[in-house]
Amino acid sequence: MSPLPLRGKLYVVGIGPGSRAMMTLRAMEAIRESEYVVGYRTYVERISDLAEEKKVITTPMRKELERVRIAVELAKNHVVSLISGGDPSIYGILPLVVEYVVENGINIEIEAIPGVTAVSAASSLLGSPICGDFAVVSLSDLLIPWYVVEQRLIHALNGNFVIAIYNPSSRRRKRNLRRAVELIRKFRGDVTVGVVKNAYRESQKVEIKRLSEIDDVDMSTILIVGNSETRVVGGTMFTPRGYSRKYGVVRKEEVPRMGAVTEEAREIARRSEEILKGFHGEDGLRGDIVRRCIATTGDVGIKDFLRFVGDTEEGVRAIKEGCRIITDVHMVRVGLRREAISAVDFADGSETKTASGLKRIKELVRDSVVAIGNSPSAALALCDIASRYPPRFIVATPVGFVNAAESKEMIRRLDIPSVTTEGARGGSGICVAIVNCLIEHAERPD
Ligand code: SAH
Repeated sequence: MSPLPLRGKLYVVGIGPGSRAMMTLRAMEAIRESEYVVGYRTYVERISDLAEEKKVITTPMRKELERVRIAVELAKNHVVSLISGGDPSIYGILPLVVEYVVENGINIEIEAIPGVTAVSAASSLLGSPICGDFAVVSLSDLLIPWYVVEQRLIHALNGNFVIAIYNPSSRRRKRNLRRAVELIRKFRGDVTVGVVKNAYRESQKVEIKRLSEIDDVDMSTILIVGNSETRVVGGTMFTPRGYSRKYGVVRKEEVPRMGAVTEEAREIARRSEEILKGFHGEDGLRGDIVRRCIATTGDVGIKDFLRFVGDTEEGVRAIKEGCRIITDVHMVRVGLRREAISAVDFADGSETKTASGLKRIKELVRDSVVAIGNSPSAALALCDIASRYPPRFIVATPVGFVNAAESKEMIRRLDIPSVTTEGARGGSGICVAIVNCLIEHAERPD
């Protein structure tokens, strides 16, 4: 015997992030078709014009179960729209509806209407920080314990996913954000974070910040944490998907050489390259690195002090694959064209700051590109760590008269490809020049 025909229907309607333009036509149709509109007060207010003729039932925040119960009961005999912000599946009411209906063996017709979720709204406003595989984590521990949230965050960080953070904070829950920031810092240093408040609502605020600058985040904000490939150019945050490498979206001559972007700067770079070719004519990556170091120091003699061990192209491959870059000091980190973390941020007060910092993040050293531009003691610490946690590539140009020459000699003896300087010469500038040269090669189309 077939079941009795149902008279009601439950629409679970995602209304998008805020503005009407971001709502789907199907969502509007469903609300128009409904006799009842049920939802959290704030969401229902956003569609109040569509609900004028309807019977409206609103419930306060955190009364989800009550909302679901009311909507499901009504939907047995009426057409009901249960309203959800963004997309109803994503930290929304839909899973609760399904669970309630299944667990209670209730047979009603349900149609879920997807909506534009906060992460897609925010990503479009920022540029395109999400790209390819990305992870989504909510910092709310109302439904799952904090250690689970933390574990998921750690795995996402380890996987080099761009991470969208929903529910970053609430009046009651400031601590979770602090703990998350600390974790992110550990894996990604002072990484770029897109901070979008009230996307597609009246008081919309879109900012690109460093992790350390994040302060007044509230519950109408979503954060998008960049990964090692994320970049900010002219106020746009984006994570390249590799099109330029594969299809040559960026033509070869357009890949900025020596950081030159404007026509005038390009012209200077071209002239400079001609002169540099006169000093050192070697083709390929190593030739480019040598010329870049000459250009950075203004010292032709530097070419006699550069040492290459192993396959230098491994550094390019590592960066192409989105490898983490670890520097000893901030000065190197800020000079790089990619996100990196600085060992000095993790210092614990023992030894020198850079050495203790590097030892504290030794697990992260494995398979990374390590760039040491200043501190011989960081270079020595790296030699200690490298047998258990071998980096993929090393650029080491620490400078000075105490341990600089010795530490670099030790690095050259490791079984890891490297670029170093011989003797006391070196410094952050050269280190940055070398790593940026690797990055530029990594960005060129094949
Ligand atoms: N179902 C919703 C998410 C609900 S969880 C969706 O798909 O978007 C609530 C969290 O989502 C907020 O704490 C905030 O982090 C994020 N959020 C929702 N709408 C937003 C908006 N318009 N702007 C910024 N963040 C938003």
